[in-house]
Amino acid sequence: MATERDYYEILGVPRNASQDEIKKAYRRLAIKYHPDRNPNNKEEAERKFKEISEAYEVLSDPEKRKIYDRYGREGLNGVFKNGDFSWQNFSHFDDLRDIFGDNFGSFFEDIFDSFFGTSPRGSTRYRTQHTYSRGEDIKIIVPLTLKEIAEGVRKRVRLKRYEICDACGGKGSKTGRVEKCPTCGGTGVIRHVKRTFFGQFVQETVCPTCGGKGFIIKDACPVCKGTGRVKKDVEIEINIPPGMRDGEYLVIRGEGHIGERGGARGDLYVFIREERDPRFKREGEDIYTEVDIPFSTAVLGGEVQVETVTGEKLKLKLKPGIQSGTVLKIPRKGIRRQNHRGDLYVKINLKTPQKPSKEMKKLFEKLRELGS
Ligand SMILES: [Zn+2]
Ligand SMILES: [Zn+2]
Repeated sequence: MATERDYYEILGVPRNASQDEIKKAYRRLAIKYHPDRNPNNKEEAERKFKEISEAYEVLSDPEKRKIYDRYGREGLNGVFKNGDFSWQNFSHFDDLRDIFGDNFGSFFEDIFDSFFGTSPRGSTRYRTQHTYSRGEDIKIIVPLTLKEIAEGVRKRVRLKRYEICDACGGKGSKTGRVEKCPTCGGTGVIRHVKRTFFGQFVQETVCPTCGGKGFIIKDACPVCKGTGRVKKDVEIEINIPPGMRDGEYLVIRGEGHIGERGGARGDLYVFIREERDPRFKREGEDIYTEVDIPFSTAVLGGEVQVETVTGEKLKLKLKPGIQSGTVLKIPRKGIRRQNHRGDLYVKINLKTPQKPSKEMKKLFEKLRELGS
């Protein structure tokens, strides 16, 4: 689907924006809408990502930009195949590589797996020329308590993961032989020519015989149906460093699905979810908590016990005459993250006795006489 919105508006740049401004705007938005960074809103992020990429494709090319400025979106019908922008029309994957660096690999596959899935030609080109054999990535969410976040943790997680098919040893058939698909001749797509009033259109659909792969397996293994892999329950251990924040993720290379017929493994994405703890509030690496003290301690001073997120019990010395609501800072008792450790802030609450005993009442009445 072509976007209806104005390309300049999509990138948030003025109509006379320089190439540099356009590039910067795309960079900023690409980071924002990276589907891996929006795990809770992936579809919307993918849509936005495609939208900004379409705008960038046009505005970063002086020729296409000129056409767009003069004739609008309609002028580009002849530029994009079938009139609509698709990832096949995108010629700036190098820019994405600059932006995302190492992460680009999995991102690239995401585009091709989930976006190109609708585009038979792209899917085939990708699968036959690049890494059809590499397995898919797996994404999991791991909930962590604040204590686990503060200290880092080693977690066992269960995965339903593609593993080598034992029946065929991962080859997909007894012989491991493949043959060019007779239906599509190895291209993975079927072309239909449609004649209309406007001329001849070529439509492409995924080849039903080989599913777009371009080849078929001879004597396919009945257990894995020729793919060389089957889903199994596995348990793995992952090391989570201290200080992770809610929504952040780790990429564990080579712990995703194994590829078809012995292909390389994809990666495992571990998204962190922070479980709420009513006793603590986290702000970055700092922790906020509260402690109740009796009236006498407030007046006379004394000791009070405070628990940290890691369960450590600290004794806090209070000076006489402390006011309710005072916040005390205990340095470096917050959450550790890389070389930094946050602080613990303790708010002192004065607890007023609600059912004082007779004797207490007498003493308070005496205090009142003294004007306190
Ligand atoms: Zn085929
Ligand atoms: Zn098999």
